[in-house]
Amino acid sequence: MLILRDFLLSSPAQIRNNMDLQATKTQAELDEMFMRMALQEARAAAADGEVPVGAVIVCKGRVLARTHNLTERLIDVTAHAEIQAITAAASALGGKYLPDCTLYVTVEPCPMCAGALGWAQIGRIVYGADDPKRGYTRLTLSAQPLSSSPILHPRTQVVSGILAEECAALMRDFFKERRPTL
Ligand code: ZN
Repeated sequence: MLILRDFLLSSPAQIRNNMDLQATKTQAELDEMFMRMALQEARAAAADGEVPVGAVIVCKGRVLARTHNLTERLIDVTAHAEIQAITAAASALGGKYLPDCTLYVTVEPCPMCAGALGWAQIGRIVYGADDPKRGYTRLTLSAQPLSSSPILHPRTQVVSGILAEECAALMRDFFKERRPTL
């Protein structure tokens, strides 16, 4: 079963507003704004007992997908936030490739999601906190820039560290609450 949850199709008026936003905000400000949206999704995940990772896909100022991790609810280890965001965005666009889209995700994608983002030819990835245990960059030689990871499409740009502390704190708090006290 596939649930395309909570993805938001913007109205033409919203798109115009978003275009105006793009004209007046810097890329860094836009990145932070959309990462805050992804953080909202991550908090919703935590509230449902899901590992708090949230994702948003934006194409030319239009939000195509807002998703979070649903592995518990769907009883599916592949139900990561990014996978659902890719599916929702492709469905909204009516095309499987996403070269003009940016994926915002609160935590560094795992190799599975990075592979899916590679297949989708996503234009840009912006992530918050590093994941030194499960992040895809573990597959990349440390001397290489992030975007040269062979798992991604060669044209995909990668930005990391946006609101990293907030993104990491959500994960820390989530797992701290679940760890038995010693
Ligand atoms: Zn993943």
